[in-house]
Amino acid sequence: MDTYDVIVVGGGPAGLGAGLYTARRNLKTIILSETLGGQMALAHIIENYPGVEPISGIELSERMKRQVESFGCEFKLARVAGLELKGDIKKVKTSEKEYLAKIVIIATGSHYRRLEVENEEKFIGKGISYCATCDLPLFKGKKVAIIGGSDSAVNAAIYASEIASETYLIHRRDKLRAEEKNQEQLKKTPVKIIWDSVVEKIEGDKFINKIIIKNVKTDETRELELDGVFIEIGEIPTTEIVKAAGVEVNEKNFVVVNDKFETNIPGVYAAGDVIGSFAQIVVAAAEGAEAATNAYLYLKGGFYGERKPTDYGEKKVS
Ligand code: NAP
Repeated sequence: MDTYDVIVVGGGPAGLGAGLYTARRNLKTIILSETLGGQMALAHIIENYPGVEPISGIELSERMKRQVESFGCEFKLARVAGLELKGDIKKVKTSEKEYLAKIVIIATGSHYRRLEVENEEKFIGKGISYCATCDLPLFKGKKVAIIGGSDSAVNAAIYASEIASETYLIHRRDKLRAEEKNQEQLKKTPVKIIWDSVVEKIEGDKFINKIIIKNVKTDETRELELDGVFIEIGEIPTTEIVKAAGVEVNEKNFVVVNDKFETNIPGVYAAGDVIGSFAQIVVAAAEGAEAATNAYLYLKGGFYGERKPTDYGEKKVS
């Protein structure tokens, strides 16, 4: 079994931010993650990460990985299958081996919310996608619909309007919740918005060919012939494994942390989308950094600003 000071579970911006800060504090750190970059890697273009000119999500993820590795942090692609977090030494199990550490930082992010309509599962990868950035290039000259009314959906619709022959944006209400800048951009495109409507059913053969939508105000239904449907309705925190290990989550399944990013288990921290933060790379990276710094101070029994060692959860630092 390999022993570390810190194991970070998750390799998105929160996990990479955490690894950067613990490694620079000379804590022996490994990041275990199923993917490099998490949701960040899926972004077509990132133009709101301070100090970085517009860059693809993959490139920013690779840069962050190179940066953490330059300080000695290990990065391993692995699926974490189980956690034993209670006690001074924590155990993290992957399908291949077990790792031990004094600190675990949870940065498992979130995954795509499903519409939960008939035939949705059946057509995933056959016209149904949850990642416009990843899959829209496959729909050049085709008819697509984007479902949702916030920034992910609006951005996807704008992007689709440059690629698809026809783009619909289907939203369940009569108002978008996306940022003004994105809404203004959308208005400049030929995207057709279908308000107050929900998808009732997806139909097709090998691939989807139409959807049935219902106007929630009039109860009228109609068919829309389509080649692709991009479901962009937000994300759900990835907390199954941490919940099973006794980490407290709230009613929306986000990990509960205090202002030091501590969970209910001493020595276990969480940061980024998994705690329900504003889902932005800059926020996740900053939270990872702060969780890591608090973890370092916990290990060393030190202070952080006005905070006293006795504030560190149930376990008092002597
Ligand atoms: P989100 O803000 O959670 O929005 C989800 C959207 O999907 C909402 O419009 C919601 O409708 C709709 N929705 C949810 N469940 C649905 C269902 N079962 N059926 C139909 N529609 C459903 O998700 P997001 O767009 O992924 O954004 C997440 C966060 O990241 C937000 O804070 C967002 O601002 C941020 N973000 C920012 C950018 C940017 O360019 N600045 C880009 C992407 C994401 P209602 O509106 O009716 O609730």
